[in-house]
Amino acid sequence: MAKILKGTEVNAALGEKIKASVDTLKEQGIVPTLGIIRVGERPDDLSYEKGASKRCEKYGVAVKRYLLPADCTQEQLMHTIEEVNRDSSVHGVLMFRPLPKSLDEEAACGALDPEKDIDGITIGSLAGVFTSRKIGFPPCTAQACMEILDYYGVNCRGKKAVVIGRSLVVGKPAAMMLLDRNATVTVCHSKTVDIPAIAREADILIVAIGRPKAVGGSCFREGQTVIDVGINVGEDGKLCGDANFEDAERIVDAVTPVPGGVGSVTTTVLVQHVVEAAERQTQKH
Ligand code: NAP
Repeated sequence: MAKILKGTEVNAALGEKIKASVDTLKEQGIVPTLGIIRVGERPDDLSYEKGASKRCEKYGVAVKRYLLPADCTQEQLMHTIEEVNRDSSVHGVLMFRPLPKSLDEEAACGALDPEKDIDGITIGSLAGVFTSRKIGFPPCTAQACMEILDYYGVNCRGKKAVVIGRSLVVGKPAAMMLLDRNATVTVCHSKTVDIPAIAREADILIVAIGRPKAVGGSCFREGQTVIDVGINVGEDGKLCGDANFEDAERIVDAVTPVPGGVGSVTTTVLVQHVVEAAERQTQKH
């Protein structure tokens, strides 16, 4: 039976570091603050906002909301982003996406100050991921995968890592971060031929495709660590990942559960990024 890589354990360890940093900032009179820009009231956004706000509160991070109606204009959105950029009491910004189709999302992301971009949505942050420099922040989900590997002592050096999925939010940054940890990385996508043969070669397998339980037994072998990024509602109405958990649990060495794996660590990484943004801005100014 595989070892279950639990988000709660990773969160407890990250939480200790976050609390210490928040205390130090507060001694200097700084309350790390997350700015949330939300356009409209999509249930997914509301639920993530609730979870993120609760996690911020737990660690003493303040939350400031910037709410716009779903039918707002591009000018209103850009004005809000400029306002958040200028507000020195806001250290990190979470802007929910996708934005309504009437809005230019690329322009909106491009307008955000990379210093406050705690979820890797600006070109500046992505440049930081590709150059291993501290420009902005990597997307929280990709960072959460690395935090899980680090916490459980999975050494990537010289290992074969396979990432299934190549989105800018998860697959591509995760592949770069594995490369940075000296893994030899292969990225698979919807046009890849014979994914199971490639996946079975992996020592570390990260799955992020948005297809419930699609990565199953034929992709696994003994000795692997599987990080399942997927969050889906399965046919039984229950939350499930992109990997088939039952197959993974039976075959591989270690696997993250869904729920209780990458998703829960992502929220803590978001808070960690706000705090780090506050530290960087304090040092700079
Ligand atoms: P996305 O933008 O839809 O990208 C999916 C990627 O998977 C694409 O690169 C696509 O390939 C590839 N793909 C789709 N079907 C495939 C298949 N059958 N075989 C191989 N590759 C396939 O999705 P995403 O935003 O990266 O999200 C991926 C999953 O992670 C989703 O389940 C999502 O809910 C979850 N997620 C979780 C968190 C978290 O905090 N835990 C955060 C974000 C997302 P092409 O590029 O060729 O189209």
